[in-house]
Amino acid sequence: TTFQELGLPNEVLEGLNALKFLKPSKVQEKALPLMLADPPRNMIAQSQSGTGKTAAFVTTVLSRVDFSQPTKPQALLLAPSRELARQIQGVVATIGQFIPNLGVAAAIPGAIPRGGSVDKAIVVGTPGTVMDLIRRHQFDVSGLRLLVIDEADNMLEQGGLGDQCSRVKGLVFETLHTRLHRALTCFASLLPPTIQILLFSATFPEKVLKYATTFAPSANIIKL
Ligand code: AMP
Repeated sequence: TTFQELGLPNEVLEGLNALKFLKPSKVQEKALPLMLADPPRNMIAQSQSGTGKTAAFVTTVLSRVDFSQPTKPQALLLAPSRELARQIQGVVATIGQFIPNLGVAAAIPGAIPRGGSVDKAIVVGTPGTVMDLIRRHQFDVSGLRLLVIDEADNMLEQGGLGDQCSRVKGLVFETLHTRLHRALTCFASLLPPTIQILLFSATFPEKVLKYATTFAPSANIIKL
């Protein structure tokens, strides 16, 4: 398979080409057709770092977002640390370098001034900061069509199943990091119901996989 055969937008192909990504890696070859299919379907992908997973989900995001409507976020990418969020933001900017009106914001501590609203089509952030922004009405989630969670095992670990959700509803906005996993479940209930959820992780221990399949219903599941 080539990237061309995957039907990616030209600007995205140019971005991959500029990076000298000549052909899809294994995870890209497997995951991209599933993630790009219509109607959109959730994805749970187990893939080590170093296999090209970042480019896989970034390519999907860049291919699905409509940059002619850049006023509110359409894709939210969550990572467990600000360093990783910055790194993913860099990959978005690089693969997306030929997209007119490409907009990507980092929602990490200190990056978004109080009172300002997030008006970029793509937001890469850490969950605590993202939830703070939503609570303060600086981040309008109503236009989100894609949610990516990188290092999902880390993020969903210790997660109780959905029954925790109603109990935590009021706590979602407290952004207590110890409650993050539970808050994430509730977080999902704040999102538009048609959102496509992509979970990437190097490992999915059984407990986390169970939680992940609840969080991302009817997902395609791939392992490498
Ligand atoms: P990751 O799995 O996201 O940590 O990516 C591992 C490395 O593979 C990164 O340095 C990417 O730049 C590189 N990479 C990703 N996709 C490709 C590709 N299709 N061809 C060549 N290198 C790639």
